[in-house]
Amino acid sequence: MRAYFSVQDQLYVWRVIDSNMRLATTFLDQLPEGVGLDGRPPQCQAHTRKGTPCQRTPLPGRDYCPSHKHLEETFESVEIPLQAGEMVDHELETLTAA
Ligand SMILES: [Zn+2]
Repeated sequence: MRAYFSVQDQLYVWRVIDSNMRLATTFLDQLPEGVGLDGRPPQCQAHTRKGTPCQRTPLPGRDYCPSHKHLEETFESVEIPLQAGEMVDHELETLTAA
C-alpha cells in the first residue's frame, strides 16, 4: 500500500485502513455460530436437475453438500511434461549453436 500514497498521506491512509480492519473484525466477532458473512446459514452452492438451488447444508469448510462435493474445484499444481521442457532446451541449443 505504501507505494500508492505519498509520504505525507501515509499516516492518514494507515488510520483509514486500521479503522476499517477494526470494523471488519468487530463484525466477524459478532456473527453467530453457523452463519455466513450474509448472516444466513451456509447452503450448498449447487443447483438441482430442476434448476433450483440445492437446499442442503454444505460439508464443514466446503461449498457443497455430500451429494455435490464432486463439483468442488480443486486447484492442484499442473506439472509441465518433461518432454516439452527438453524440446525447449534442445531448440535453445540449436539457436545458440547457429
Ligand atoms: Zn448440494
